[in-house]
Amino acid sequence: MLTAAIAPGTAMSAPGNRKMGYAIVGLGSYATRQIMPQFANCESARLVALVSGTPAKLERYGAEYGVPRTHLYNYQNFDSIRDNPDIDIVYVVLPVSMHAEYTIRAASAGKHVLCEKPMAMSSAECEAMIAACRQAGKRLMIGYRCHFEPHNRLAIELARAKFVGPTRQITAAHGFNISAGQWRLDRTMSGGGSLMDIGIYSLNAARYLTGEEPTEVVALESTDGDDPRFRTVEDRIDFTLRFPSGVIASCVSSYSSGHNDYRVIGTNGWIAMEPATPYSGHVMHVRKDGVTERRELPPPVKNQFVAQLDHLPECVSAGNEPIVPGEEGLRDLRIIEAIYRSARERRAVTLVSA
Ligand code: NAD
Repeated sequence: MLTAAIAPGTAMSAPGNRKMGYAIVGLGSYATRQIMPQFANCESARLVALVSGTPAKLERYGAEYGVPRTHLYNYQNFDSIRDNPDIDIVYVVLPVSMHAEYTIRAASAGKHVLCEKPMAMSSAECEAMIAACRQAGKRLMIGYRCHFEPHNRLAIELARAKFVGPTRQITAAHGFNISAGQWRLDRTMSGGGSLMDIGIYSLNAARYLTGEEPTEVVALESTDGDDPRFRTVEDRIDFTLRFPSGVIASCVSSYSSGHNDYRVIGTNGWIAMEPATPYSGHVMHVRKDGVTERRELPPPVKNQFVAQLDHLPECVSAGNEPIVPGEEGLRDLRIIEAIYRSARERRAVTLVSA
């Protein structure tokens, strides 16, 4: 029977006798609503420190999570985390423009790093982050939570096992109607528009569902220049990726319409996920030999957030690379840069895999 197990070679059992300590940098929406409550269910990770520029947030969340005052930091004294042996891992949950700086400062302070997606503003920044962590002898992982989510893991397994025949096409669409007045709409902080923030889920899915790297991309952008939200970033950018096996992936990325789905179409059926990459509530259907079935999975022992938080400490203990290392973020950034180039220059762009 096909299961949704974590990739072979990945340590999933609790290592050693101590949970590793995380410092969360950036107490915004994702950190406080989605990530921090999950530590209660982790077996290899615990929340030990907080970093914020807002004293009231440090006060509030420090009290809520029992973080001592000695373990509350701001952006100025952040580097003194090097003197705190309770902190093993720094989780960077900041606007994209700050990812490289805080990853490099964390590695320099002798800490492993989990950094949110998109990894950085550019592939050059990604390379600098990877180099800094390597030089410090520290692990670097990117917050691609879907790689830890059971429905997505099953979809990967079914697609790569050719359960519905060899894959011929993938469609993937991600988008939402963004509200004005946030850093995501300021290119100097986000590095780009919908593609960097949400379209990256379509891109990453096309890559994890095929297990291949694209060789060519063609993109079309559609942005209403009169919409004040899109003064510096793109709204919609659709892109088509060609993979070495012949699979064509048609992907949507939008900041003005709601999408959250993908479909793997094989010679003998399809695997459909909608919603595909939410925080919870995934729905999967599989059609094979003319019969369509809903695949319902039992509640996982660890949800995607818990599995992700536990994964890095377990890799550190076992001496393994994370399943989503810095190189995974770098690959997406290189393709994102090619997608932007294709849209700008109105031509297909060839990708050189590294
Ligand atoms: P947010 O705006 O809610 O939080 C950003 C945090 O950064 C805030 O606490 C803010 O105070 C802080 N910050 C520090 N300096 C800042 C500055 N100069 N300008 C603006 N904010 C500043 O954003 P978020 O939704 O929590 O996103 C944070 C990161 O998490 C991003 O990289 C985003 O892509 C990622 N994210 C990932 C997921 C996921 O599912 N993996 C979901 C949401 C967000």
